[in-house]
Amino acid sequence: MTISILWFRRDLRLSDHPALLAAVDSADEVLPVFVRDPALHDRGAVRTGRLEASLAALSADTGGALVLRTGDPAEVIAELAESVNADQVHVSRESTPYGRRRDDRVREHLAREGRELVETGSPYAVGPGRVLNKTGEPYRVFTPFSKAWRDHGWPEPGARPDDIAWAADPDPDESHDPDPGSRDAGDGAEAGEQAALERWREFLRDDLISYGDQRDRPDLDTTSRLSVHLKYGEIHPRTILAELADDSAADTEGARRFVTELAWREFYADVLWHWPRSAWRDLRDTLSGMEYDEGPETAVLVEAWQQGVTGYPFVDAGMRQLRAEGWMHNRVRMVTASFLVKDLHVWWPSGARYFLDHLRDGDLASNNHGWQWVAGTGTDASPYFRVFNPVTQGVKFDPDGDYVRRWIPELAHLAGAAAHEPWRSADGYDHGYPERIVDHAEERRETLRRYDRAKGDD
Ligand code: FAD
Repeated sequence: MTISILWFRRDLRLSDHPALLAAVDSADEVLPVFVRDPALHDRGAVRTGRLEASLAALSADTGGALVLRTGDPAEVIAELAESVNADQVHVSRESTPYGRRRDDRVREHLAREGRELVETGSPYAVGPGRVLNKTGEPYRVFTPFSKAWRDHGWPEPGARPDDIAWAADPDPDESHDPDPGSRDAGDGAEAGEQAALERWREFLRDDLISYGDQRDRPDLDTTSRLSVHLKYGEIHPRTILAELADDSAADTEGARRFVTELAWREFYADVLWHWPRSAWRDLRDTLSGMEYDEGPETAVLVEAWQQGVTGYPFVDAGMRQLRAEGWMHNRVRMVTASFLVKDLHVWWPSGARYFLDHLRDGDLASNNHGWQWVAGTGTDASPYFRVFNPVTQGVKFDPDGDYVRRWIPELAHLAGAAAHEPWRSADGYDHGYPERIVDHAEERRETLRRYDRAKGDD
């Protein structure tokens, strides 16, 4: 009887799982394992709670066979491989800086006993690092990347293996049930593969067709909300792309736009693969001389931003949604991020850290490069001098003020777009909504002054 290990990480599903198929092919039985790595999983209740919900679903899908351990993966995996005498440990290829370092260590530990770490597939349609231009260089700009990514193409989804022979936990006393043993993902949506597939198919049926027109409207809330399912790998993007290609809506603007958004996710993972230091440093150093604020006065402003009490309704609605749901609409992510960087003059990593700690879909590549896009230091950098106006953005993308009123009860009495500008209504501040902490017009000018100085034009 031979046993292979399948070590789950960002791929918590059984369908369209290349590494699982490879593990099934390689031995008589498969030991399914997840390691709670303190280096990754101790960061805040939001992420831990969502992960546990996903693990509970996966455990149920394996009929309770999932083996859960806590500790340094290099030691835990090597010990388990020894216990069940597995020659191979199968994984999906990881592309984050930490994941790559960790896997190198695990590979070394396994090799000492003559065992192998086998990488098959990745959490992306095209594995990060694989799309290169004609001279073999990686892309730094999205549009040519997305064209090359489509031209590269991806394999059809893999089948879900029937009747997998799961191996028994060699030391059941060491395993802990997922906590809280519920599939509630904490935001009203369920976790797990089944929930991910249902969400995707519901979106395909009901909202894809209008995605092209409505994706920028947080009040309508009709985007897919697949980001959290993709983060935990409860669905593979190839599954989405294949079902989309077969759907009658495949040739619509909504479908094209949606594929482009998935391509952004792939692009940012690719960028992180090629430039791991861009996770926490400016990708482009053209603004390295930029002056940012810090210290106690700035800390007070940052706290107001975090709590959603800046006095700018669109920004505050987004930050309150983030705290309440662990999710925020893309348009509002851009505006809230811009507010921190360009109205409060805070360097982007501080905001990126806060987002990662509060988002259920918190993803290093998408989040930190999304922040850099806003800050003007990343790929396709929106020019630094383009500063989002938090009021006009609100009026444009939440024209009736519904999104703002949904998250800010103190503005519920203001009808329509008036909710975006309480300072214009005589009773605007009657229910405790705070005054603006900064003057956007003045801070915009200050941002441009700093920009000019950093460019040496002053
Ligand atoms: P949809 O509009 O339905 O898009 C479908 C999918 O495409 C998403 O689930 C996501 O996987 C991908 N996608 C869409 N837009 C982007 C984008 N701009 N960049 C990368 N992928 C995209 N996305 C995350 O998954 N995790 C993050 O931590 C994250 N942080 C962000 C921080 C900032 C400052 C910004 C501007 C964007 C961030 N995004 C992040 C991207 C985007 O906001 C979310 O993916 C999107 O809002 C998720 O909602 P949805 O699934 O309904 O998106």
